[in-house]
Amino acid sequence: MPFKKIAKFFSGPAPHISRDEAMKVFQRDHFKCQYCGLDGLHNFSNWLVLTIDHVHPHAKGGGRHMENLVTCCQPCNVVKGHRVFASREAAKKFVLEKREEWHRAFQDQVKSHGSAHAAQR
Ligand SMILES: [Zn+2]
Repeated sequence: MPFKKIAKFFSGPAPHISRDEAMKVFQRDHFKCQYCGLDGLHNFSNWLVLTIDHVHPHAKGGGRHMENLVTCCQPCNVVKGHRVFASREAAKKFVLEKREEWHRAFQDQVKSHGSAHAAQR
C-alpha cells in the first residue's frame, strides 16, 4: 500500500490531518478509542481501525487543534457521524448508548440465525 494511502488510512475521513498530527493524538490517548476504550495496541485488527475524530465535527467547522482531536475507532466514528455535542462526555454517552442499541440488534440477529453463528461472537 503506498504511503499516501496509509496516511489517509490513519487520518480517517477528515482530510486535513497529517500522519504526524495523527500520531501525536494517538500517543496522547495511548492508542485507545476515547469513546469505547478499544485498545489499538492490543492486536493488529484493533490498530487498523484507529482513526482521528473531530469532537466538534470537521464538517461543522470544528478545528484541527489537539483539544478537538481524539483517537477513535472506526465503528465509533461511524456511530458518531457529523453530530454536534455540547461536550466530549455527551458525545461519548451518545456513542456508547448507540453501540449498546446495535449490540442488542446484533444479539437478535445471532438468535434468529441459530447457534451455529452464536458460537462465533
Ligand atoms: Zn470505539
